[in-house]
Amino acid sequence: MERNFPLDMDAFVPRCLDADLSENSWFRGLETMVNIIITAIHINALWVLPAAYYYCTEMTLPRTFRNSPSWNDPDRVAILREILTGKINLDIMDVAYVDFLASPPCSGCLSRASCALHLLRLARGLPSWLTPAKKGAGPKYHTLGHWWNRKWLKEQHCGGLCTPCASACISAYESARDDYWDKIPSAFNLPSWKELRSLRETDLDK
Ligand SMILES: [Zn+2]
Repeated sequence: MERNFPLDMDAFVPRCLDADLSENSWFRGLETMVNIIITAIHINALWVLPAAYYYCTEMTLPRTFRNSPSWNDPDRVAILREILTGKINLDIMDVAYVDFLASPPCSGCLSRASCALHLLRLARGLPSWLTPAKKGAGPKYHTLGHWWNRKWLKEQHCGGLCTPCASACISAYESARDDYWDKIPSAFNLPSWKELRSLRETDLDK
């Protein structure tokens, strides 16, 4: 369970992005995920929950979620509610996350006019990312998935900026991404990563 839902961002996000949604994959649909979450709660392995919940919000299509038979099961409804609340919280975090992308050129900018124009163009493209996926489209990735590829970010996203602005953009991105990961447990009403890590250590020492 822990291998699939690690406490570490660099271990989890690539796994989440590469997930194979077919029958043989480690993700076998919402109902299995609800079972995994119930088991984790039962054995008090709470440290796997942030990644498990995040995965559910990322990979479950709205209609799958709406039509889940778990809505009729009083023991499972609480999990679905937690997923839904978390999804709303992540959506709000997504909006806050892009603030840094809509920033003005940095103080050491070498080409204010062209950097300002490029940043404006980037900011204009953001709403299309923030709006829900079109009907019938695949899963809508949250921040971590959408902005994960450093190479793309460096070459495509920041490619039109001068060197100081591109560096500023990349470091803002790295720190915003760390902040986002830090907030994931609280989005799902869970203790912080620090508390979860210490719970894990205490539990595994027993
Ligand atoms: Zn610049």
